[in-house]
Amino acid sequence: MPSTDFLVIGSGIAGLTFALKAAEHGKVTIVTKKDDTESNTNYAQGGVAAVFGSDDGLEDHIRDTIEGGAGLCNPEAVRAMVSEGPALVQELSQMGVGFTMNTQGGLDLGKEGGHSKRRIVHAKDYTGFEIERALVAKTRGHSNITVLEHHLAIDLITDRQGERISCLGAYVLDTRNGEIEGHSAGITFLATGGGGQVYLHTTNPAIATGDGIAMAYRAGATIANMEFVQFHPTTLYQSSFEENERSFLISEAVRGEGGVLCDKSGRRFMSGYHPKADLAPRDVVARAIDSELKASGEICAFLDISSIGQDKFQKRFPNIFQGCQQRVIDLSRGLIPVVPAAHYLCGGVRTDLWGRSDIKRLYSAGETACTGAHGANRLASNSLLEALVFAARAAQASSDELKSPDNIQPWDYVGSVQSRERVVVSHNLHAVRLLMWNYVGIVRSDTRLAMAKKRLQAIAGEIRDYYWKYRVTADLVELRNLVSLAGLIIDCADSRQESRGLHYTQDHSERDDRHFRRDTLINSGRINLS
Ligand SMILES: Cc1cc2nc3c(=O)[nH]c(=O)nc-3n(C[C@H](O)[C@H](O)[C@H](O)COP(=O)(O)OP(=O)(O)OC[C@H]3O[C@@H](n4cnc5c(N)ncnc54)[C@H](O)[C@@H]3O)c2cc1C
Repeated sequence: MPSTDFLVIGSGIAGLTFALKAAEHGKVTIVTKKDDTESNTNYAQGGVAAVFGSDDGLEDHIRDTIEGGAGLCNPEAVRAMVSEGPALVQELSQMGVGFTMNTQGGLDLGKEGGHSKRRIVHAKDYTGFEIERALVAKTRGHSNITVLEHHLAIDLITDRQGERISCLGAYVLDTRNGEIEGHSAGITFLATGGGGQVYLHTTNPAIATGDGIAMAYRAGATIANMEFVQFHPTTLYQSSFEENERSFLISEAVRGEGGVLCDKSGRRFMSGYHPKADLAPRDVVARAIDSELKASGEICAFLDISSIGQDKFQKRFPNIFQGCQQRVIDLSRGLIPVVPAAHYLCGGVRTDLWGRSDIKRLYSAGETACTGAHGANRLASNSLLEALVFAARAAQASSDELKSPDNIQPWDYVGSVQSRERVVVSHNLHAVRLLMWNYVGIVRSDTRLAMAKKRLQAIAGEIRDYYWKYRVTADLVELRNLVSLAGLIIDCADSRQESRGLHYTQDHSERDDRHFRRDTLINSGRINLS
């Protein structure tokens, strides 16, 4: 049975950063469910927020982040993220990440919503691709790191001693041959990213099915703040799309460079919603578009990029320019059709400032984790930063806790019959994604949440029976996780009877600090407002 010092689940920025740092202390195995580069990280466009500008300071970045987080940021997590971020960004640069430089030879700093200063370090508009490329190159061929592609973690292996649960590793499916093996590990690090695929429209690629959060929840870890789902206001509107296809993102940096939202008649509407107009926080912009579309009955809004000019646009945003061209969007009119889509999950496995979950020897960072750094709303480009900082911290803390891997039980192939009813999976996948989009989206209500809960329970029952009856396949594992994720989002949203940050409900449209200025914690089906 395979065993290792550090088992890393996921190969985005969090998993790879952790792996490279942990490899200084022991053997690392990375399991990743597709090719090693396939991750949300790979698609990040805008950049990494970090204080480098001469007119900027750590206190400015901290203040912006806390302001954006709508009263729920953990100030200590914000301070750690903001202060330790710049050095880690410099490490990336030394590793070969080709960040865009300005004419004076310094880092070119972009501006995005919610940030009061220019502080977005970027590689043109394909920052994530560049970071992923460099990190993957460094891990490949590293003498202490083994990378297992097409290996999907199914469940954590735990040991219970009274109240205390320890993580001993994970069961992992080799998706090319259907074999499942137990991987025993001294430390297990969850870095499976977010779960945008739980919504019908999302910027996230197909890997983003919330596996780490669902696995940790099943194992007994505390999950926090799942109601705070960020909808990116501007993804390219396309009249037709395929199931699982991710919505093409039009980065916030486009508005940072002068792009302005308008309706089809050219009427600019953002100044009616927020003093910062087009550079208001994302939730405000997403709700404004949602409200404009509901009022007008139109299917999309437009981003007017005419003030940027086509040449500059093409140079600054080559990836977006090409993406629009591939989708036959005529940019000569200076208008990009846009709609909101699910983008980022602020909630996740609750960790402390060192990436520790409340299961012993189980650590997490990146979009899977909830450190409290984003509070109720994440500022643009703070997520790559958070993943970097807390993955590095987790590697440091977990190396002190490292112990020899334990003996574990092999996987028990209970349902070993191949299913002939695959339609159950595809049908229910679509049903969950549609249900979440329609009932648990940008604007929520008590009635819609109650209806979503009822419908999801029926689907969950069907999937549970199916899961234990047939041979485990990757799409079934992911669907099971998406159902758990949907349930966690609905339960957390239902328990927060106020509107704050990314959670907006028309039945409780005011912020209520007296009752709800606290995290929503959920553990084994029990909601606890800490
Ligand atoms: C289009 C887009 C643009 C973005 N732009 C920005 C930006 O400009 N700035 C910013 O800060 N943030 C941005 N974000 C958010 C940011 O990219 C993510 O939050 C961040 O990359 C998450 O990193 P991660 O390492 O936690 O997860 P990911 O990068 O998503 O990596 C998760 C990894 O886990 C693997 N995995 C998942 N489940 C399993 C399993 N069961 N078993 C094995 N492996 C598994 C995946 O295959 C993948 O390798 C953007 C996101 C998107 C989608």
